[in-house]
Amino acid sequence: MNPDGDAIGSSLGLNDILINAGFESHVIVPNDYPIYLNWLGSEAIPLIYEQNCAKCNELINQADALFFLDFNDVKRLGKIEEYLRTVSTPVVLIDHHPDPQINAEYQFSDTDVSSTAELVYDFIEGVGMLEHIGPAGANALLAGIIADTGSFSHNAFRQSTYRIAGELINRGAEKERINESLFNNFSEKRMRLLGYCLSEKMEVFPQFSTAMIWLTTKELKQYDFHPGDTEGFVNYPLSIKGVAFSAFFIEKNGVVKISFRSKGNFPTNEFSGKHFNGGGHRNASGGETKLPMEEALALFRSLLPQYKTQLGEI
Ligand code: 5GP
Ligand code: MN
Repeated sequence: MNPDGDAIGSSLGLNDILINAGFESHVIVPNDYPIYLNWLGSEAIPLIYEQNCAKCNELINQADALFFLDFNDVKRLGKIEEYLRTVSTPVVLIDHHPDPQINAEYQFSDTDVSSTAELVYDFIEGVGMLEHIGPAGANALLAGIIADTGSFSHNAFRQSTYRIAGELINRGAEKERINESLFNNFSEKRMRLLGYCLSEKMEVFPQFSTAMIWLTTKELKQYDFHPGDTEGFVNYPLSIKGVAFSAFFIEKNGVVKISFRSKGNFPTNEFSGKHFNGGGHRNASGGETKLPMEEALALFRSLLPQYKTQLGEI
């Protein structure tokens, strides 16, 4: 659900490589994705399961293999899960989230790797198919790496990330175009919504090195919200000196969806799993709650004191 730049980039990249190698391949995502992910270098267009169940089911039914990319829990599959239970096609899981909850026939799972896109490159190299990475596949994979590392600013401590980025550039990836597409592709309304969040909707808790931002459905309407408009908002409080834990709350389809980010050792995925039915990476995770917004915020505020020591260590 809610595929991000790495989910789309790694999928389109692998898809392109498989097609170049002579296979028939298709990309299916559970639900719609933000407009700014429309150009990641590949001509292929992911099929959105929620909008095209019958066609997607037909493709899944005909497939000889299914690649699960950038997720490791069937809960993240949305409605696709129901149909997948009826097929016994071999699954190849390629992912970098902790604690895989899927029993795949082939599993390439490594939390140290920057992105699923980087793992796809590793996989393609391992199976001796590098020659099939053309400019489109290279762009899509580099876009996945850039999206998940914030342009190499986090989760980018391995030498191999840079080697692979270099190899992808050699094969035709256009770093500047990817950056423009991912980071400088927003509407004026989105910029104003960001301004509003930072000036009016950010609460800072200096004693807990924490800050949070929240938005209600009413506010989203006022700013003509489109999916993806609030992508990245959760990162802004982390650029305040001394803030090492950030949370972003947003009302979506009757639930409150939360994004968590941290700098350093604070495990946002554990926090999210324990209190907000979620998970993800240590420094980037998400969750959700059925509590009304005010109660969700109150719960978050009330939890901070018990993490004071851990947050203070950051
Ligand atoms: P984002 O905050 O960008 O939506 O998500 C950040 C990370 O947390 C992603 O890697 C995503 O897979 C994970 N994540 C987001 N929401 C959830 C959730 O509700 N449950 C779980 N398990 N992971 C989530
Ligand atoms: Mn990822």
